[in-house]
Amino acid sequence: MKLHTIHAGHFMCDGGALFGVIPKKMWSKLYEVDADNYCKASLRCLLIDTVKRRILIDTGIGTKQGAKFLSHSRLFGDDELISSLHKVGYQTSDITDVLLTHLHFDHCGECVTKDEDGQLQLTFENATYWVSQKQWNTYLNPNVREGAVYFPENMMPVFEANKLQLIKSEGAWLPEVDIKLFDGHTDGQIVPIIHTPNGLLAYMGDFIPVTASINPFWVAAYDIQPIVSIEEKKQFLNEAISKNINLYFEHDYYTECCSLTSSPKGVSVGKTFSLEEFMR
Ligand SMILES: [Zn+2]
Repeated sequence: MKLHTIHAGHFMCDGGALFGVIPKKMWSKLYEVDADNYCKASLRCLLIDTVKRRILIDTGIGTKQGAKFLSHSRLFGDDELISSLHKVGYQTSDITDVLLTHLHFDHCGECVTKDEDGQLQLTFENATYWVSQKQWNTYLNPNVREGAVYFPENMMPVFEANKLQLIKSEGAWLPEVDIKLFDGHTDGQIVPIIHTPNGLLAYMGDFIPVTASINPFWVAAYDIQPIVSIEEKKQFLNEAISKNINLYFEHDYYTECCSLTSSPKGVSVGKTFSLEEFMR
């Protein structure tokens, strides 16, 4: 098995939204903040190459939304999904499966691309796209809080092309990947746990977006059920300690992966490392 980090870009994220009720005085010590209260964040996707399949987890924001929207997202840097794939030796046609943690626009934005004539095309022409049944139901019928972050053009072409598969329950998804489902941030968010030759690695998505959010009480303002998020994180972190699960961060600009350590005060960051160091 090979794992590759696939950067789909970096953006400036409102610190108040990311850290919720936690005072700025506390989070700004850990995450450098600009004059508008924004901190650096990443769109760090993951490619899993098994003998049989090449699975991409999440696809970033994409480019089809137009300049005005993209300027609101405050993207920076040169990293982009397709060129990042090329850099590690893959073409879009190599991808067999796209696993989406959930369907907020910054996680599934490049499932569909606009071609030169402005027509919507599936970016990964040979892939099956996977999302949880619960998340799909919310996408079709969003609540008042999440309506603005689901875009029809990100997923409806996938559905219409008959390339969408729904995951209904937790457990083994592939021999190499287990699925866990959480509801605090959004209904049916997937956290995949990958069985690598060097141990277990969980893709955090928006469940634990950055290392500081390992503290169960550091919950983002946009989680739809913050109390559920706290409980889900506590349970997951205990399981992660007992099974020695390492974490891979989608949004932490500064830290790619970490191990966990436990003390009477709770679970916290053990060591931090890159994916390359983890796979060495
Ligand atoms: Zn989200």
